[in-house]
This record gives sequence, C-alpha cells and structure tokens, in this order.
Amino acid sequence: MGTPLSDPTEEGAFFKGLHRALYVRDRDPTLEDQKCRLCKKEIESQLHLHKCKKIKPVWKAIFKALKRLGYGSPPHHTLATIFNVWAPNKLASPEIAALLRHTFRHIYAAFTRVETDGHLFVPELVISQSLRALKEALRRRAYTIQRMHANRKNTSLPNAIPHEAALQYASLIEMDEQGNIAGFSPTFDAITEEAERDAKAAMANLGDRQRAEERQRAKERASRKRRRDDPQAPQGAAPLPPNPPAAPRPPPAGLARGGPGNTRRPD
Ligand SMILES: [Zn+2]
Repeated sequence: MGTPLSDPTEEGAFFKGLHRALYVRDRDPTLEDQKCRLCKKEIESQLHLHKCKKIKPVWKAIFKALKRLGYGSPPHHTLATIFNVWAPNKLASPEIAALLRHTFRHIYAAFTRVETDGHLFVPELVISQSLRALKEALRRRAYTIQRMHANRKNTSLPNAIPHEAALQYASLIEMDEQGNIAGFSPTFDAITEEAERDAKAAMANLGDRQRAEERQRAKERASRKRRRDDPQAPQGAAPLPPNPPAAPRPPPAGLARGGPGNTRRPD
C-alpha cells in the first residue's frame, strides 16, 4: 500500500497511525492528565490527531491545496486523512496519498516536540514542511525515472519512459519522457511559495505566540489553584496574578530550520 512518492519513514508513521500504535496520552492509563497537549480540552487519542482544533488548520490548508491543484475534495476529511479514502469506495491517487502521509508525519513530529522539546505547534510551519516534502518526493521520483531511462539505453527495453509515467503527476510537475523535470506546475509553485511565506511570518512572531501561550498557562494554573484553595469561590472571580516576566525567548533551536534536517523521525 506504499506510494512511489512516500518513503518508508512516512509509511512507518502512516501504518503506525493506522494501527494505533503512535504514542498519545490516552495510551498511558497511569497518566493523570490525558487531555490533548495542544487544545487541552479533549482526550488525546489517535483519532484526536485528525480532529484536534489546533491541528485542523493544517489539514484544512492541505485539502485546500489539493482542491486548487485540481484534485477535488474527499467526502469525509477524517476518512481521507486516516485511510486515504478520496471518494466513495475509492482510494486517493498516489500523489494525494503521499501528501496526506507527509502531512501526518510532520503533524506527529511537531506534536511530539511540543512535549519533548517544549516547542510550540506552528500550523503554518507544518503545512509548509508537508508541501515541501511532497516536492522533494516528486524530485526523487523524477530521478528514479531518469535512472531507469539511463539503464535502458543499452538494452532492448523501451527507451523512453511510458507516456503515462510522464503525465502521471501532471498537476504537480512537468516531466519529459526521459524523466527530466521541466518544472513544477505554476499552481503548485504558488501554493508552496505562499505556504513558505506564511511559515516565515509565523516563525517571526513566535515570541508573541509563546508569550500568549505562557499567559494562558499561567491563567489556567491560577484558576486551578483558586479552585483548590477555595472550592466555593466562583471561578474566574479572583484577580489574576501578575504575568510572569515576558523575557523574549529565541525560537527553540531546530524549529526554524527548514529541510529534511527538521523532520526527525517521530518515533
Ligand atoms: Zn487537541
């Protein structure tokens, strides 16, 4: 069930997702707090990775991108992200499936780093990384086709790659019959450039997001403490403690880095 556009790393994360073996909090019954590390509202389960409102913007952007690229929309988003179902009784084409798997892998990696490295989950960054991963996969695929072509030169096998292979990913990449990349499609280029811009802007404002998050956390801690100290007190009535000093923090190391270096295997 692999695709020519996703490698065993993505397949690993995808199948683990399918088999519900990725680590999420509800797998640990001894954990006092099984609420989602991002939204802090729902129980953090496998399924929740596809539904969390903090992660939703990523999936939404990916579905929007696929629609702009001419792939339409699936009837059911969660069935598409978990099982790659793209139409009633029909699985997604390899490039759609590949993008969904790249996206899931980047979501899970970023989600994990929230806990292990104290990083913020930045949807814009995950969107951009996922689209870039598909671009890199398409490039690798084109090289494979080129190599195939080169190996066939001195054999009796057909010299050119099958016409369908050159056309297969036509909404994304323009390839000639030798597998040479003429370029990515203008729409795909526009989508990835926009995503990159949004990611850069989001990373530039990371300090603000981090401080907002810290204020929110302090507020929650204070409200928990109030409830402990005086269970009768109406919630939210007591004055808030002053905000902790908002020391500007540099973005966590590794978060701003692009490329495959930032896509540590989630497991
Ligand atoms: Zn959540």
